[in-house]
Amino acid sequence: MLDRVLQEIRTRRRFVVTSHARPDGDGIGSALACGQILRMMGKDAEVVMHDGVPRIYQNLPFADRAIQADAVPANDAVILLECDGIRRTMLNGLEDCFLINIDHHVSGRNFGHINWIDSSVMATAELVFRLARRACVPVDRDIATCLYTALMTDTGSFMFEGTNEDTFAVARDLVLSGADPAECARHIYFGHSTAKMRLLGAALSSLHREGPLAWIWVTQEQMTRFGAREEDCEGLANYALSIADVQVAIFFRELPGGRYRISLRSKGEVNVSTTAEYFGGGGHKCASGCAVDGPLAVAVSRIVDRLRVEAEILNASHD
Ligand code: 5GP
Repeated sequence: MLDRVLQEIRTRRRFVVTSHARPDGDGIGSALACGQILRMMGKDAEVVMHDGVPRIYQNLPFADRAIQADAVPANDAVILLECDGIRRTMLNGLEDCFLINIDHHVSGRNFGHINWIDSSVMATAELVFRLARRACVPVDRDIATCLYTALMTDTGSFMFEGTNEDTFAVARDLVLSGADPAECARHIYFGHSTAKMRLLGAALSSLHREGPLAWIWVTQEQMTRFGAREEDCEGLANYALSIADVQVAIFFRELPGGRYRISLRSKGEVNVSTTAEYFGGGGHKCASGCAVDGPLAVAVSRIVDRLRVEAEILNASHD
């Protein structure tokens, strides 16, 4: 499939590269790197993101060239990274475009004209790296920095289940190409806003624990009071997961209008993607997301009940 992707790229000139709304490190890092790889192949390439580049990723090379927009500009093809459908991008105008879909999610879908989905890799960045190599594009320090940051964040700093010797081999190649692991980590893990820390405090105060399950939530009122943005919610679920004996953590974020966005995180014994997919979302075995209707108590019971149906071990006695 990689050769097919390259063949389609070679016959076209103007590209748009995009990823999902509320982009994470893999979405942003892979898109920025892919845009530059295309430019080095002599193509016109624009990275277009519905929500722009989140603050902690704004130090990445090429981030200042990314465009925030509601619709795709004129193009010969759009490369969608990390998406299970065009709606995930929240961009208008994709219906009539030639779509190249590159993804690593188990919930990935063949919605594009060309679909390269490989759920054996930890990050879409690994596929973009393969693309560069097969296209004989030299991976320089800047591209390596984007791809390393994507890999580091999607593996939870090389801690998530599935991280293996191949992941470290890719990381090694990226470091040999110029990525600086300490610098990449510093921008991501020591670059938070004060608002995010205040939000974290509120989320941790809400902590609820039932045996191997833990959940936390934040309200719209808290988001507004702290001046927090959507992107400040990234990673909060991991704090609940960090408790000993917790197998699955859930983060509930109230949305304007009363729905709740859910982040599900697992230490590895439970596959949370089936629950996310049940509610129309998706993701990975250890990190998935979806949205459900409120109020909070209803959202909690729907998610918790479904998780308990999916995974017997979550029915263990409560603390
Ligand atoms: P997060 O909880 O950080 O928003 O997302 C965790 C993982 O689940 C990411 O890989 C993300 O792409 C995926 N994910 C989150 N929400 C959705 C959703 O609504 N639909 C799909 N298909 N994937 C999602």
